[in-house]
Amino acid sequence: MLEEVFAKLPAPFSFDSRFRRAPKRALHLSPKEKRLAVANALRYVPKKFHEAMAVEFARELEERGRIYAYRFRPEGAIAAKPIEAYEGACLAGKAIQLMMDNNLDFEIALYPYELVTYGETGQVCQNWLQYRLIQHYLKRLKEDETLVLQSGHPLGLFKSPRNAPRVIITNGLMVGLYDNDACFQKAQSLGVANYGQMTAGGLMYIGPQGIVHGTYNTLLIAGRRIGGSHSDNLSGLLYVSSGLGGMSGAQGKAAKMAGAVGVVAEVDPSRIQTRKAQGWVDEVFDNLADLIPRLKTAREHKEAVALAYQGNVVDLLEGLVKAAVDVDLLSDQTSCHAVYEGGYCPCDLSFDERTQMLAHDPEGFRAKVDRSLKKHMSLVEELVSRGSYFFDYGNSFLKSCYDAGLHHLAREGDPLQGFIYPSYVEELLGPELFDYGYGPFRWVCLSGREEDLEKTDQLAYETILSYKDRGRYQDQDNALWLKLAKKHQLVVGSKARILYQDAKGRREIALRFNDLVRRGEVGPIMLGRDHHDTGGTDSPFRETANIKDGSQMMAEMATQCFAGNAARGMTMVALHNGGGVGIGKSINGGFGMLLDGSQEVDEILAMAMDWDVMCGVSRRAFAGNPHARQAAEAFLAERPGAITLPETANPHLIDALFR
Ligand code: NAD
Repeated sequence: MLEEVFAKLPAPFSFDSRFRRAPKRALHLSPKEKRLAVANALRYVPKKFHEAMAVEFARELEERGRIYAYRFRPEGAIAAKPIEAYEGACLAGKAIQLMMDNNLDFEIALYPYELVTYGETGQVCQNWLQYRLIQHYLKRLKEDETLVLQSGHPLGLFKSPRNAPRVIITNGLMVGLYDNDACFQKAQSLGVANYGQMTAGGLMYIGPQGIVHGTYNTLLIAGRRIGGSHSDNLSGLLYVSSGLGGMSGAQGKAAKMAGAVGVVAEVDPSRIQTRKAQGWVDEVFDNLADLIPRLKTAREHKEAVALAYQGNVVDLLEGLVKAAVDVDLLSDQTSCHAVYEGGYCPCDLSFDERTQMLAHDPEGFRAKVDRSLKKHMSLVEELVSRGSYFFDYGNSFLKSCYDAGLHHLAREGDPLQGFIYPSYVEELLGPELFDYGYGPFRWVCLSGREEDLEKTDQLAYETILSYKDRGRYQDQDNALWLKLAKKHQLVVGSKARILYQDAKGRREIALRFNDLVRRGEVGPIMLGRDHHDTGGTDSPFRETANIKDGSQMMAEMATQCFAGNAARGMTMVALHNGGGVGIGKSINGGFGMLLDGSQEVDEILAMAMDWDVMCGVSRRAFAGNPHARQAAEAFLAERPGAITLPETANPHLIDALFR
């Protein structure tokens, strides 16, 4: 089969300099292991090309720290096409090719040549040989087969029932003994591990829009937390953060949609240009002397505006402290989950110097990162002492500061107990959204037609309006979101929409969408969600940061969620190590569900949409989270006896025992 897929050796690859390239990744392989890495990559290549490719792969390994097999990348742009344009033996095979291409679109992917979709290191698969093979299998995939992807490696097509998943994906799952950064990097260099982040390897990324809604919700909830008149929008408030990359790029837009002045620092000028060109930041400043008066005026006039600072966030915070600017909401979205791999740029290096130093002096780079984090944290502490509300944005910022030596940040000296500053899930999204089951539900109109997106938006809107009697502010926020999302033209890449919904909303919207497809009013739809959800992710510093019964050490919820979705027949299921926060710090999973208008799909949706959310709500309820208990009780009213709820012990009884 390899002879068929790679019949001809493609010409050496030439790179278009307009597109960003990933920095050289750490390479800690012994000479023996380097031999293994090259031999591993050659397994995909017909023997007749081995001699030529062995040299090229060895060079890539030395130069990039990985073997991406660039030469096998298809020529030109990759982007999601209308589903009819894909070749395939079944609709799911075509749909999943489309989802994969969307993740590698030049407009979307962070480092498209290195197959990185977002989050500095989140890849679709490890190399272009795997990409080509996966596409080959997806074209042949039939309705009684399942394609198995292990860290991007297509193990093969295996027979399965019609209502089993068509694709099962795992990324970066490691045996506990090796489940740490050093071993993972080695496994990546050897070509046996892929860091799938969440929807990068899970093939459900929908461009930065996917994050805007979550960020918008987070900022609105943070505004409600600091009180005052900011319950519905953040007019007159200043939000300061960093990062205009894959997910972080949503911050300016989300702050503006919420009515605030958003100021975001970014060291990489190309990422600022991307966001400016997309209209996601309004104005760009490369000096504080101009930026600071501008942001003050904007705040005074209650302007909703997204400002970018081209420079290091540490310099920005230092400038704000010196100029005595009060920051209302403060966070950080540098890629600290990969803090020593280029995710965080130290304050005394420019972006280019950071790339050079990473390649030539990784140890020196580590030391600089640690020094910068310490300075960064001291500025955060100063701003907090002046009244800022600071929260960790799930990027391992606090954990990285702790690892850099700031041990006072851990509660009771133990990072497993969390940190003295809240994480956004712990204090904001967790109690207010995830515990109720609200999470980042999304859909992609596979026809690529704008009118399909409009029809689905409208139907989702009407469904949410029918929930008026629940009296929940979340439903109002979500309805408003749909209107804002359209107005702000958030689509980049495939015609997709994100919409936070709970179990009931997701199930009802999904069934109504499938009916639309059945009636031929829209083309097929791929439903899914971010892994960053109520039940999809076990991650003690993030998604499960508001679980306090000790079970935050466990990864069984995400695993059960994945297995349950597979058992109920979701089209594509994924389970990953490390998404968002880094290897060993989370297990997370997601799904894709193809709506083809059939009765079978109705049956799957009726069971699977509830399971996917309620597995998380039930676990959160058992951990004692009050809003999850409310949501679980509402579910029990429909399905009596279905969930185990806890008997909460009287704290006085427990205290008396150990007094
Ligand atoms: P990314 O790597 O695409 O973007 C991060 C950006 O930060 C880069 O553009 C980088 O140049 C910039 N940067 C790095 N150091 C800097 C510095 N010192 N000053 C200014 N800019 C600097 O990653 P991403 O996809 O945007 O995600 C960012 C982080 O946020 C990740 O760790 C991710 O896991 C986390 N996160 C985001 C969300 C969300 O909802 N947005 C949720 C959870 C976690």
